[in-house]
Amino acid sequence: AAKAAGRDQMTLFDRALSEKKLAVSRTVERLRGAIDRDELIVYFQPLVRLADERMTGVEALIRWQPAGETMIAPDQFIPAAEDSGLIVPIGEWVLRRSCEVVAEWHRRRHAVVVSVNVSPRQLRETDFAAQVFSALRDSGLPASALILEITEGVLVASGMVTDQAIRHLETLRGHGVKVAVDDFGTGYSSLAYLRDLPIDHVKIDKSFMPGPSAEPGSDGPDPAARTMVKAIIDLAAGLKLGTIAEGVETREQVDLLRELGCDRAQGYYYARPLPAGDAAKLLTSAEWGTRV
Ligand code: C2E
Ligand code: MG
Ligand code: MG
Ligand code: MG
Repeated sequence: AAKAAGRDQMTLFDRALSEKKLAVSRTVERLRGAIDRDELIVYFQPLVRLADERMTGVEALIRWQPAGETMIAPDQFIPAAEDSGLIVPIGEWVLRRSCEVVAEWHRRRHAVVVSVNVSPRQLRETDFAAQVFSALRDSGLPASALILEITEGVLVASGMVTDQAIRHLETLRGHGVKVAVDDFGTGYSSLAYLRDLPIDHVKIDKSFMPGPSAEPGSDGPDPAARTMVKAIIDLAAGLKLGTIAEGVETREQVDLLRELGCDRAQGYYYARPLPAGDAAKLLTSAEWGTRV
C-alpha cells in the first residue's frame, strides 16, 4: 500500500510539473511576437537624488499588455523569457526604447540618466556591447546617461564569473556607460563582487528598507535594519561606489537614508513606475524637475 501511495504521489508530482511546464510554454508562445504586435511597454520610475530630492533619473521597467487583457507584470513573464531565450530580443528592444525616450528628454534639456535591467542571457551574447553602442548611437543618448543594472547572479555561471560578461562591462565602462549591481544583499550576494567587478553603483534591495519601529514608544527605525542599511552604504562609499535605495515607501525611510549618506532613492513614496508621458510631466514640474 505504501508503495502504491508513493507511486500515486509521484504521478501527482509529475502531473503538477508537466502542468507547470505547459503553462511556461504557453506563456512563451504568447510572448513570441509580442514585440511585433506592439504589446510591450516600457514604464519609467523616478530616481530621486536625496540631497535635494530632485528627479535625476529613471529606471526602465517592462510591462506586457496583450490586446483586451489586463497588464502583465515582469515577474509573470521574465522567467519564461529567460528560459526560452526570448529575453535577448526583448531586452534589446527595452534598451533601444529606453534610450529613445530619454534622449528625447535630453533634447528638451532634461539631462537625466536611465537605468536599464540586463538579463544574464544578454550579457552572454557576443555582440551585447555592440548592441548597446548601437542603441546609444541611433538615439543620440550620451553613454554617461545610461546605467545597466545587473544582478549578482548575472555574473555567475556554474560558480564562475563569466569572462564574456566582464569583458562587455569593461568595454562599456571604457566608453562612459555606468553599471549598477541590482538587488544587492539578496541571492548570490558576495561582498567580493563589489571589490572585483567593474561597477559604479550599488542598488540596495527593498527587503532591507526598515519597517516601522518594533519597539512601542521608541522613535526611529528598527535598529537591526538600520545597522544593515548603514553597513551597505558605508561599504559602497569606501569602495567609491554610488548608492541607490529601492522600495522606499515612507518619509522615515527617506530621512534615514539621507542621514546615512545614501545618494539616490526610488520607490512608491516618490512615485510608481509611470508611462513615458507621465514621467516626462514630472520632469517639467517645479517640485520634481531639474534642468541641466
Ligand atoms: P527590479 O529591477 O529590482 O525593479 C524594482 C521593482 O520594484 C519593480 O517591480 C518596481 O515596480 C518595484 N518597486 C518600486 N518601488 C517600490 C516600492 O516602493 N515598493 C515595492 N514593494 N516595490 C517597488 P517590477 O516593475 O514589477 O519589476 C520586477 C522585476 O522584473 C525587476 O526588479 C527586474 O528584475 C525585472 N524586470 C523589469 N523590467 C525588466 C527588463 O526590461 N529586463 C529584465 N531583464 N528584467 C526586468
Ligand atoms: Mg532593476
Ligand atoms: Mg532592483
Ligand atoms: Mg529588487
